[in-house]
Amino acid sequence: MSEKTTHFGFESVAEADKAKRVAGVFSSVASRYDIMNDLMSGGLHRLWKAFTIQIAGVREGDKVLDVAGGTADLSLAFAKRVGPHGQVWLTDINGAMLSRGRDRVIDRGQVLPVAQCDAEKLPFPDNHFDCVTVAFGLRNMTHKDLALSEMRRVLKPGGRLLVLEFSQVYKPLAPAYDLYSFKILPWLGQKVAGDADSYRYLAESIRQHPDQGTLKSMMEQSGLARVDYFNLTGGVVALHRGFKV
Ligand code: SAM
Repeated sequence: MSEKTTHFGFESVAEADKAKRVAGVFSSVASRYDIMNDLMSGGLHRLWKAFTIQIAGVREGDKVLDVAGGTADLSLAFAKRVGPHGQVWLTDINGAMLSRGRDRVIDRGQVLPVAQCDAEKLPFPDNHFDCVTVAFGLRNMTHKDLALSEMRRVLKPGGRLLVLEFSQVYKPLAPAYDLYSFKILPWLGQKVAGDADSYRYLAESIRQHPDQGTLKSMMEQSGLARVDYFNLTGGVVALHRGFKV
């Protein structure tokens, strides 16, 4: 019987191996992850995340799940919004990323529940959260459809899922964006994080990720309703939003 394969950047790998390869990338970059985010995006990732927080419309007392939350940028921002009667869970599959996130949470004087878990098999009950977010995480998941269904499952009726992810840039920007991603990014990764390959994977995985329209359909197929999206920075990134009805 032939083994099922999937993408790891431009490589085709056995489905069973993808999670290990992705784990290798994030374990390697975890200690330089935040500085690289600022350098690579010229600080833009902060604006993309601030927009996500605004669109999330989270209120005091809400329960929020940050999937693939990594170093906790979104969790920390949500914690301020939900206040002492709300709850924000910081989760990620990768121990190295999650411990950086947990340390940042503690350094900011916050107390948040933290769980190491796979988005494809979330350890939370049905109908539990007002808002679920996944920022720059979905691209790395092996079974994106499964992860989307899981995120929908744990949402309360009326709750929303926000997916912030790299997407398809407007055509006129593509040549400059390609030059930047395939030449400058790996060079920067080598200089700052001592790891060109992980940043080459980043550029490649973005090209393999479903475009805006495809991701919208995938979210609809997972059972989410009223799905829409916002293009940010010329489509470099898109924020998708869908509701559980
Ligand atoms: N959300 C953070 C942010 O926006 O800065 C971190 C994003 S980082 C690019 C992607 C994260 O996705 C990594 O921390 C990685 O461990 C996590 N990840 C990859 N596959 C995952 C999965 N199946 N379940 C949960 N997290 C996953």
